[in-house]
Amino acid sequence: MNCSPLPQFVIDLDHRVVLWNKAMEDYSQIKSTDIVGTDHHWKVFYDSKRPCMVDLVINEDLEGLKYWFPHRCKPSQQVKGAYEAEQYYPHRGPQGTHLHFTVSTIRSHDGEIIGGFESFEDITKRKVAEKELQESEEKFRSLIENLNVGVYRNTSDPWGTFIQVNPAFAQIFGYDSPDEIMQINVMDLYVNKEDRVRFLEGLQREGSITDRKLLLKKKDYSNIWVSVSARAHYHEEGFIDWVDGMVEDTTHRIEVEEALQKSEKQYRSIVENINDGFCIHDFKGVIQDCNENFALMLGFGREEVIGTNLDEFSSTRMLSFKNDVVDELKNKGVVEFDGDVRGKNGIRRYYSINSSIISQEGNGKVQSFLRDVTKRKEMEKKLLKSENKAHKRLSEIEAIYNSAPMGLCVLDCDLRYLRINKSMAEMNGFSPQEHIGKSIHEIVPDLSQQGEAIAKEIFQTGKAVCMEMNGTTAAQDGAVRTWIEGWYPIKDSSHRIVGINVAALEITEIKRANEDLKKSEEKLRLTIEGAGVIMWFWNMENDRVECRGHYKHILGPGPIPDMGYNELLSFVHPDDLEKVEAAFQKTLQYGEDFKVETRTIWKDKSVHWFSIMGRVVYDLQGKPQEMIGIALDITNNKIVQLELQETLRKLKRSNAELEQFAYVASHDLQEPLRMITSFLQLLKLRYENQLDSDANEFIHFAIDGATRMQEMINDLLTYSRIDRKRGDFKEVKIEDILQQITFEYKLLIQEKNAVISHGELPVITADYTQMVQLFQNLISNSIKYNDQPCPTIHITAEKQDNDWIFKVADNGIGIDPQQGDRIFKIFQRLHSPDEYEGTGIGLAIVKRIVERHGGRIWYDSQPGKGSNFYFNIPWRLNHEV
Ligand code: ADP
Repeated sequence: MNCSPLPQFVIDLDHRVVLWNKAMEDYSQIKSTDIVGTDHHWKVFYDSKRPCMVDLVINEDLEGLKYWFPHRCKPSQQVKGAYEAEQYYPHRGPQGTHLHFTVSTIRSHDGEIIGGFESFEDITKRKVAEKELQESEEKFRSLIENLNVGVYRNTSDPWGTFIQVNPAFAQIFGYDSPDEIMQINVMDLYVNKEDRVRFLEGLQREGSITDRKLLLKKKDYSNIWVSVSARAHYHEEGFIDWVDGMVEDTTHRIEVEEALQKSEKQYRSIVENINDGFCIHDFKGVIQDCNENFALMLGFGREEVIGTNLDEFSSTRMLSFKNDVVDELKNKGVVEFDGDVRGKNGIRRYYSINSSIISQEGNGKVQSFLRDVTKRKEMEKKLLKSENKAHKRLSEIEAIYNSAPMGLCVLDCDLRYLRINKSMAEMNGFSPQEHIGKSIHEIVPDLSQQGEAIAKEIFQTGKAVCMEMNGTTAAQDGAVRTWIEGWYPIKDSSHRIVGINVAALEITEIKRANEDLKKSEEKLRLTIEGAGVIMWFWNMENDRVECRGHYKHILGPGPIPDMGYNELLSFVHPDDLEKVEAAFQKTLQYGEDFKVETRTIWKDKSVHWFSIMGRVVYDLQGKPQEMIGIALDITNNKIVQLELQETLRKLKRSNAELEQFAYVASHDLQEPLRMITSFLQLLKLRYENQLDSDANEFIHFAIDGATRMQEMINDLLTYSRIDRKRGDFKEVKIEDILQQITFEYKLLIQEKNAVISHGELPVITADYTQMVQLFQNLISNSIKYNDQPCPTIHITAEKQDNDWIFKVADNGIGIDPQQGDRIFKIFQRLHSPDEYEGTGIGLAIVKRIVERHGGRIWYDSQPGKGSNFYFNIPWRLNHEV
């Protein structure tokens, strides 16, 4: 027992282990010494205590055996009285464990049971293999049974006997079951017996035959094309034992192939005849096939195109089969997109591409149809462009509409605002939004009646209405305003009026201005007529002269002739013609105002002086358009002027002669006067004591008179010399002059106890000697005409505009203002020589000097209150005045 490869053990009647062999030790991992004598042998097989097979057998407990080993326990065929059983332990080992037990009783010589022997074998591997085989056989059988392909096994004799066939085989030949077809011989299936012979020869030779096409016949004697593949199975002695084979009904396949060929032909003919380009390519775009049209699109031959990539021809990669297009194609099976192709000639055309998947295998197989849509594309582009343009135009119009200075709105048939621009909204005094949906009655009640009347007319006539509207709106404090309005019907395609377009232009100001213009024109007309002025307008474009005012008497009686530039000049005196023409030329050339005085000869031959003035009016381009002007009859003025000139001329001459006379007289009178004076003095000296007192008095008077006359002549000479003197103007410091005078009048000042003072005095451009004369006269007068114990004279100067105003103020006897300018006249005195000495020429000299320096002299004074003498000298005296 110990040498047995099978695990074995023995128990006695008390179910205690007696023997435990080596194999048992190995299997159970329990040592013989540990278990012999115990009843623990169950532990090898079970987790909890239960009877093992040997325990039941020694007890001859057949019921127990049935109970504990229900299915697999049976009496052993080999050992009498022994039992065999198989037990499966699912939780032992990865696939469970199968054990095969053999159990027998051990009997004494007298046949009594003294113990039991149990041996077992691990049959797990065998069991698993058996199961797998069974499963695989099962699968195979089911496969064969269910296969669409006919499977058979038959003998290799010429007649051939079927050994086995599957249902599909029977079915192919029109038999109801495998059994039915197995009734006939293989040869019975053949149409031509030689085919069977050839088939077997081939099989003999090669050992196998693949895909042999054979024409066989069915149960109903109809022919059937099949494809047969067979393999010979050889007997050990070398002859063929049997033949296994597979039969496929190819009738249908051949039909399909024929149909396919036909359809391929049709397909080719369609493909070649369609107008579209057609190609077959893979997902990467590599072209596998194409029609002529497609090749033509690319500008190559069909053979050249095959093998190239679609993308090589697309400038924008729109034909790309590398990105989204392929993704979409794979997802949906079809894809439609637009692409462009640049042909060999460089011209780009656009295509609508329709691709569909033929096969997903490998790199894929896609068929694409390309339809030339260049025209459509170009149209689309044009359309887009024109849409853009239209859109732009529309927004421009919108902008113009909204910003137009003119009021614009659209009214529906109930005169409700549908649309309104800013100007119109402002005119009405509401925001544009406030208008929408409201009626004109609600927005502009004062104008609504007029509006409704216009609308009525439009609905009746279907024609636009333009008119002036007056009234107030909510804007501009409800002032009455005037508009020119155009109401235009909006019509639909069937000429039905669907609304009204209103355009309004406010003319309140224009109207007012027009009225003002009318008034001012009327005023002007009255003025022109009243003033006897002629207004003339010379339109240079058509050379027409128009006149208004007092012009008709120039032309004389009869109709007014058409006048142009030449006719106008025909009225000019021939002696002035050159001057007048030159003035015109100057104005036209340099744009200066036209101004000329000329004699004119009227129709009645009378000569009149005219002062003519004019100005050029230019058009917007700056081109002279018109010349407008006035002409004034100045004949009377001219006569007065000429007379005046004549008088002035005469006056000048007489003045000069007078001056000459005064000078000559005073100069030449001096000599005889001096003689009279000196002889009178000689007379007095020699004969004073010899003559009586009367004679002496007479001589005294004579001398006195002669002296006074001499003084007067001297003064007259001084006076007449003032203007005769050549200009000697230079910078003169007035203070210096006063110093000189104070020095010269030193004695007089002391005698009279006078005080001369002055403020700040300027330096002026003047004749030095005459300035001395001027101040001498004024200062000496101030001292002379003064009764004060202490005469004071104060001289000041003040700058005013362009002048220095000098003032010589004294505290003297004053002058009665009623005397006026008399004191400035030559030899005019307010006092007799007895009261105050003098010739009465001092102030006349002062006046003349001041006037010679471009100034004027005046005074203010009251008797007994002192006098203020004023004179001005222009402070910028650049030349002799
Ligand atoms: P004359 O001093 O030689 O009389 P004028 O021409 O200087 O001549 O003066 C004219 C007259 O003006 C004087 O006779 C005098 O009556 C009056 N008059 C001039 N200066 C003054 C003055 N400062 N105060 C008062 N009277 C004056």
